[in-house]
Amino acid sequence: MNYLYLLATLLFVFGIKRLTNVKSCASGNRLSELGMLVAIATTMLIHHESINWPTIAAGVIVGGSIGLFLAKRTPTTEMPELVAALNGFGGISSALVAAAAVMKTVVDRPIAADGPLSSVATVAAILIGMVTLTGSFVAYGKLSGKSLNHPLAGAVRHVLHLVLGLGAAGLGVWMATATGESTPLLALLLLALVAAALGVFLVMPIGGADMPVVVSLLNSYSGIAAAFAGLVIDNPLLIVVGSMVGASGLILTQIMCKAMNRSLGNVLLGGMGGEDEVAEDARDYNNIKQSGPEEIAMLLDGASSVIVVPGYGLAVAQAQHVVRELGDLLIDRGVEVRYAIHPVAGRMPGHMNVLLAESDVPYDQLWEMERINGDFKNTDVVIIVGANDVVNPAAREPSGPISGMPILDVDHARTVVVIKRSLSPGYAGIKNPLFELDNTLMVFADAKEALEGMVREVKDL
Ligand code: NDP
Repeated sequence: MNYLYLLATLLFVFGIKRLTNVKSCASGNRLSELGMLVAIATTMLIHHESINWPTIAAGVIVGGSIGLFLAKRTPTTEMPELVAALNGFGGISSALVAAAAVMKTVVDRPIAADGPLSSVATVAAILIGMVTLTGSFVAYGKLSGKSLNHPLAGAVRHVLHLVLGLGAAGLGVWMATATGESTPLLALLLLALVAAALGVFLVMPIGGADMPVVVSLLNSYSGIAAAFAGLVIDNPLLIVVGSMVGASGLILTQIMCKAMNRSLGNVLLGGMGGEDEVAEDARDYNNIKQSGPEEIAMLLDGASSVIVVPGYGLAVAQAQHVVRELGDLLIDRGVEVRYAIHPVAGRMPGHMNVLLAESDVPYDQLWEMERINGDFKNTDVVIIVGANDVVNPAAREPSGPISGMPILDVDHARTVVVIKRSLSPGYAGIKNPLFELDNTLMVFADAKEALEGMVREVKDL
């Protein structure tokens, strides 16, 4: 049977490998689904004598229907919330597996009798699983715009977290060494409650816009909890796959922090992205040149190359379909049109890719930052749609909140058109000197309305 587990692992590995490319990612998903089917079927074959089939059937039907319903109903803009919720369910599953092992074994002999590895794995699966559950649901709330603030500030907050962490460790030791009908279960319950509280309080102080980093980290935690649960029940597949999820979640977290030029510690301690932090001079601008759809259409009429830079505002305005319509119109007129994708544009990894894929923008028109940055100097018009930080030349300054963050070099283009509603700053809360440059035109409007206006004007040319 271990050969079948090996097959499932290979399907997961090749599935993840195929996710690294936009063209092959759909087939990567299919491979991983097949891997999961093999994994579940193998586990059922191994345990067929002790399986309660009606319970399994009910679980498959009810759980599968809820999953199908959620996946079909959730719009792409709410994907981060769905991912957060699914991470939470992953965490509680691992905690429940470890809890079941505690309930089964402790009446006559403590868990510790099976050795330190088993004890540590059981406590860790429950602790990390519960932190993942509640932390993920706080992240879910924040992503849906709820204001969930930590009741404490400063050093007191850190003391509370330390007390909860040490308390959980103490309860873990108690649970691992206790025997009897009720004592281990009481320790288990208290450990789960303290870990749940820790998850809530750890995520609460982090800014809403930093939630994608947190979700990616919690995804990693859910994998680590699963790997520990695999050690508890001696299941090699769970150990391998849990470790893969744990490692890939950590790598993604690191990639996102690097693209924002921030450390993980800075994100977790709420260094930037506190919702109300805005620099004093963030709205002090001179030399702003305002424009509108008619003038931009004339500009586009004379252009032979256009690069569209989508940002968070594109998602807010739901302007992905109309931006593609404008792009298609220009392509029909012989203009070269490309979309420049910054790794952290928007509010989740791949946010812009997902939105543009939804509106059927061909993959070969999507260009990553490293590949397109050298081409801005030869580009006639750059249209920035609701992006701000990812095109802010202030990142090239030696100091400042986004100093060192890699940016799209849009200011090197002949003309830059910025569509946004006002001179309000982006997520980093700072002034953007791009808006004052001689070659920049500002179109102050909702992205969808401005682009619809441009589409009309280009059609009338
Ligand atoms: P920004 O948040 O920097 O800017 C978005 C701009 O969109 C705002 O200035 C806003 O201006 C404008 N906007 C909002 N709504 C609309 C609308 N309806 N129509 C037109 N414009 C609109 O976004 P970017 O994408 O440039 O940068 C992403 C930021 O998020 C970076 O700082 C990044 O570090 C951070 N981040 C990204 C993560 C990720 O995974 N992608 C994770 C965590 C953080 P106005 O109000 O004037 O319209």
